[in-house]
Amino acid sequence: MTSSTGQVLYRCGKCGRVFDLMQLRILAPRVRCPHCGYRVIYKVRTPVLKKVKAI
Ligand SMILES: [Zn+2]
Repeated sequence: MTSSTGQVLYRCGKCGRVFDLMQLRILAPRVRCPHCGYRVIYKVRTPVLKKVKAI
């Protein structure tokens, strides 16, 4: 499974801030929000530009 397109971001479950893997790695190996320290992090994918047929 390759994911060459689209960047994976992480969103804090508390403050809702979004950060990328590099920011997350600062606190590695602990997965924590770099802003508030909350430990519930959601993985979110940036919307990849896709052609969508409208009608
Ligand atoms: Zn946070």
